[in-house]
Amino acid sequence: MASSKRRRKDSSTRENTEFESTAKGTSSGNRDGEFWFEDGNVVLIARNCEFRIFKGILAHHSPVFHDIVGPFTQKARPSIHAISAIIRLGHKYQMQHMVAQAVRYLKRWFTSDFAVWSAGKLHLPDAPLKRVHAIGVVNLARLVDEPSLLPTALLACCLLDAQIVQGFAREDGARERLALDDVGRCFAARTRLAEEALVLTLRIFSPEVSDGCADPQMCEMLLGQTLASVAHEQRDFARADVFTSWVDRAADAGPLSCVDLMFQCCNSCQEMVKERDLEERLRVWKALPEIMGVRVDGWAASSP
Ligand SMILES: [Zn+2]
Repeated sequence: MASSKRRRKDSSTRENTEFESTAKGTSSGNRDGEFWFEDGNVVLIARNCEFRIFKGILAHHSPVFHDIVGPFTQKARPSIHAISAIIRLGHKYQMQHMVAQAVRYLKRWFTSDFAVWSAGKLHLPDAPLKRVHAIGVVNLARLVDEPSLLPTALLACCLLDAQIVQGFAREDGARERLALDDVGRCFAARTRLAEEALVLTLRIFSPEVSDGCADPQMCEMLLGQTLASVAHEQRDFARADVFTSWVDRAADAGPLSCVDLMFQCCNSCQEMVKERDLEERLRVWKALPEIMGVRVDGWAASSP
């Protein structure tokens, strides 16, 4: 093969291993049980073992493979299956750069950034990574010891209801499921999150007016009515994701919202409620690793 010399040189992350890309479907050796994806579009042969994986992902994430499989579009939004293949393969063959790139991609969806998470726009229907994929992300984070992914990935698992034990289908047909220890963590965290949701809401709408209140009697009454009306929002109390803003939710819902009364308070009190809304959610965010039963050094270090 004309370029086999160059390929040998490029395969520097694993000496004595020669990688070759072959046509899809070619078979001459032993298929790797873990890294053989039916819709993969490149077959790599390392010694006698064959891997069928995703050409674009490899080219994008690994300088070693870039020359072999060619350029990869920046717009690609790889699926959980592709990312899982990259991380498991990279981990198995100690290609740290490739693992780090794939982990960085996962962090876009299972972020440690409060503002990004609380905006609640990460797992929309057109997103390549859905909430249920959090189960796979937890398992990958455990595999490569990347604890910063765990708080939001486990939190997303808490939002799955019964699906938390069903998991999701991997490409080989097997189910990706949480380890029982992590199911236990989510079970315990659900209770903590429900408690936090209650405390957080009571504090945000506490009928204690602001220092600069223009009409204390009126504002105290309005805040009291707001707090009473929040009791009708049972669906919101049942949600494990306590990081969605009450104020933004009310503003989006318009004049029929239960907490719309708050917007009739004086400006000073409205600002006070907005500050409480942010402060209280941030307080819980900072405690999220502890709530989820994991340890993450430097969590929320850059939060206000
Ligand atoms: Zn006021």
